[in-house]
Amino acid sequence: MQILVTGGAGFIGGHLAERFAADSHDVVVLDNRDPFYDLDIKQHNVEAGREAARNSGGSYEFIEGDVRDAELVRDLVADADYVYHQAAQAGVRPSVQNPRKYDEVNVDGTLNLLDACRDEGIERFVMASSSSVYGKPQYLPYDEEHPTTPVSPYGASKLAAERYACAYSEVYDLPTVALRYFTVYGPRMRPNMAISNFVSRCHNGEPPVIYGDGTQTRDFTYIEDVIDANMTLLHEDAADGKAVNIGSTDNIEIKTLATEIRDQIDPDLELVYEERHDADAEHTHAATDRAEELLGYDPDHTIREGVEKFIDWYRDNRDWYEPLVRQS
Ligand code: NAD
Repeated sequence: MQILVTGGAGFIGGHLAERFAADSHDVVVLDNRDPFYDLDIKQHNVEAGREAARNSGGSYEFIEGDVRDAELVRDLVADADYVYHQAAQAGVRPSVQNPRKYDEVNVDGTLNLLDACRDEGIERFVMASSSSVYGKPQYLPYDEEHPTTPVSPYGASKLAAERYACAYSEVYDLPTVALRYFTVYGPRMRPNMAISNFVSRCHNGEPPVIYGDGTQTRDFTYIEDVIDANMTLLHEDAADGKAVNIGSTDNIEIKTLATEIRDQIDPDLELVYEERHDADAEHTHAATDRAEELLGYDPDHTIREGVEKFIDWYRDNRDWYEPLVRQS
């Protein structure tokens, strides 16, 4: 079975491609190695996929290219059975500076894939969406019926993309699923995310920096749980045409998270508070009943377990990963 993973040199796509390769599938990765963060991490992601394929007897091919290139996308989709679309211009704050690029990559790029998937009649199109589609909460936790009023160009672009995916399912009978991820973390994560920053600073005897008063809450979702949810969609059709939340079991305040990390690494450090960024959501919290019902989703990791695993990984990979976090 051949699986096309767009954005497969990135954090989530990298883990997904690695798991597919480890399960002996034929994996093709399409990624333009966008310099949004250091390319060294992307190289590690690609290497992990190659090694998994070598060990399992599956195959792994990396294609450097852009989802905005409709012709290339069409050629790659023609050979694929499944498409897992993880490529995106990520990041809420930078989207405020350059909304047009988010539209081109996240919306037009997704449409290129959907058109090709429709014409080639693939088994399923699974796309990464985001909790950012919800915007200001009218109630929490967000279920999938919660109004979608994104407060950033990034969130707006993810919402438009997933709406197209749902529409293609309705109009062209193309099986599509949009998984709305809630702050994913784990080994090889983007270096500019809160958990990697907290861990790095604490390891260097520096206090973790919190933007705002730290009462913002998040569902931090461990990468392995996200990958498990994606794997289910190789054989489960109950979520076709739908958007489904993928979150964690426990919702946590940022200052509690920072305290937990600080306590595990260097309990003597004080927390430091700086000004909050307007585009950041105040609270995100996922209701995962739909994922449970349709996908049998049952995340294995509490935040404490996930953070412990991440800190272990960080210590083993500190020589190459830490400098990237420091410069991000
Ligand atoms: P990432 O930046 O690590 O990975 C995205 C990958 O897409 C990168 O390798 C990048 O080079 C590639 N890419 C960017 N533009 C491209 C283009 N035009 N053509 C081809 N490839 C391109 O981000 P991630 O954290 O792995 O996120 C993966 C997906 O999950 C994204 O769609 C993101 O919007 C979504 N998501 C992530 C999170 C999270 O917490 N990490 C939360 C919600 C949603």
